[in-house]
Amino acid sequence: MRNNLDLSFTALIVVDFQNDFCPGGTLAVSEGDQIYPVVQDLVNEFEDRHRPIVFTRDYHPSNHISFVNRGGPWPPHCVQGTYGFEFFPKLRIPDNAAHFFKGYLKDADAYSGFEGCLATNGTITGITLESWLHSQNVHQVYITGLATDYCVKATAIDATRAGFDTIVITNGVKGVNVSPHDSERALNDMKQAGACLLEWPARHG
Ligand SMILES: [Zn+2]
Repeated sequence: MRNNLDLSFTALIVVDFQNDFCPGGTLAVSEGDQIYPVVQDLVNEFEDRHRPIVFTRDYHPSNHISFVNRGGPWPPHCVQGTYGFEFFPKLRIPDNAAHFFKGYLKDADAYSGFEGCLATNGTITGITLESWLHSQNVHQVYITGLATDYCVKATAIDATRAGFDTIVITNGVKGVNVSPHDSERALNDMKQAGACLLEWPARHG
């Protein structure tokens, strides 16, 4: 079935697959690590087809506005220069992948990858995700990563608003679920915004 998917105008967006959002991290998504096989399989497939692959990451200063010690909702997470900011260790990142950092200003939070900017060799540029995707002639995005009810949702909804045909990979996302069913509701919100939901037929092992 996957061979029939036309990905000629598609980019993959992997949202925030970072240590702090995985079990053992400071803002762990329960079973967040279990999306790994699907995420890696998607990365491999897009790489095989020479399609653009985007990784977004929270890149917070240690005094970030979203942290509890500044009156925000979250424990400190994904702080610049820490292990928690790094990718889930098993994840293999293609050399030519595009990296977008968000939430790097101390007084502004950002859930959506579309609020991030391209980082080349760790240096943040002024290039937004939307403009970068257009520069790659991308019309469609596949979205996977963490967490369903926050950054995945915000990224998917922004993608639809920016006019991209938006596909959310249901078996490649996991939610925080502060309230039960938050993930389910988030997937519904994404659908309402015009995104499609797809279970990726991953090859395991
Ligand atoms: Zn954050």
